[in-house]
Amino acid sequence: MTKNPPFIPKISWQQELAEAFTTIDALCAFLELDPKNLPISKQAAKQFALKVPKSFAENMHKNDPNDPLLLQVLPIHDETLAYPGFNDDPVGDLMATRENHILHKYQGRVLMINTGTCAINCRYCFRRNFPYADYQLGRQKQNRAIDYIANDPSISEVILSGGDPLLLSDSRLAELIEQLNAIEHLTRIRIHSRIPIVLPSRVTDELIKTLDTARPSVTIVMHCNHANEISHAVETASRKLKLAGIMLFNQAVLLKNINDDADQLCRLSETLFRNGIVPYYLHCLDMATGTGHFEVSDEKTLSLYETMQKRLPGYLVPKLVREVAGAPYKKPIEASERVL
Ligand SMILES: *Cc1c(COP(=O)(O)O)cnc(C)c1O
Ligand code: SF4
Repeated sequence: MTKNPPFIPKISWQQELAEAFTTIDALCAFLELDPKNLPISKQAAKQFALKVPKSFAENMHKNDPNDPLLLQVLPIHDETLAYPGFNDDPVGDLMATRENHILHKYQGRVLMINTGTCAINCRYCFRRNFPYADYQLGRQKQNRAIDYIANDPSISEVILSGGDPLLLSDSRLAELIEQLNAIEHLTRIRIHSRIPIVLPSRVTDELIKTLDTARPSVTIVMHCNHANEISHAVETASRKLKLAGIMLFNQAVLLKNINDDADQLCRLSETLFRNGIVPYYLHCLDMATGTGHFEVSDEKTLSLYETMQKRLPGYLVPKLVREVAGAPYKKPIEASERVL
């Protein structure tokens, strides 16, 4: 773990969120890029707004149109192209979730949608096609979701997801945890969040205290795709969570021109581990409309994965998986399936 002195955020996370870049021009000005030289699409930005916290933009290289972090957030023309096989609900979530904000696809685990929004808008995300407004979890809907979990003793784990569940205020989180604490058969709370990476100032002492009120064990699965995302502030946030006894994992999405490179994938695993975060999943892209240009071919995927397996200790190799609609778990993809 890092031995640097802790990073102290200058402004509150709420203020930082309010000041996030929301226009192409402002982001380009900050990065010293001329928007005219970029394949920017206003139409793409209209479909799914640009949103980038400054602390994330600070990890991008200035004046580099191919920066791997910039490519994750910049609305470009390719998003408006149709790619075969890409649609609005690639893993069948949209239809399954409207009613009580619970997605019960896998045995023993349910995913609870707490909010429709995130601190950042990632262009590759399947959520880009979601009807956001439907996904704000009001108290009544929250109570219905809690009842669903309470009434099914086979559920031992609840996954807080979204959107980003850490956008909930501490008091909303505290209420939710209190409700979950009362469900005896629940032994694990898992939080899937990109916030420790993109808005590390959210990891306040207050948040730690709130999470510490949970009776079930608390695990956080971060969503980090590239080692450049792990700034000093991210290291400090991870260390705080770790010291609070929270298990930390990471899941990444394999993305063309962003992290489809063996050196970068190995560097990501090593950087995560140095910060107490275990690589959990490397996801193949969900085939959502507007994301076709991020797809990495199966052949390249397998060859990258094989290189990772050769170079890294087994515990630093994330499981390579693809989500298949209707499958009972995330389908592992094995290098051995290929004729070597
Ligand atoms: C990914 C996912 C889970 C968690 O799966 P794990 O393999 O346990 O990480 C649970 N529910 C839903 C709906 C999911 O999409
Ligand atoms: S759900 Fe995750 S990948 Fe999608 S926009 Fe939010 S933070 Fe990005």
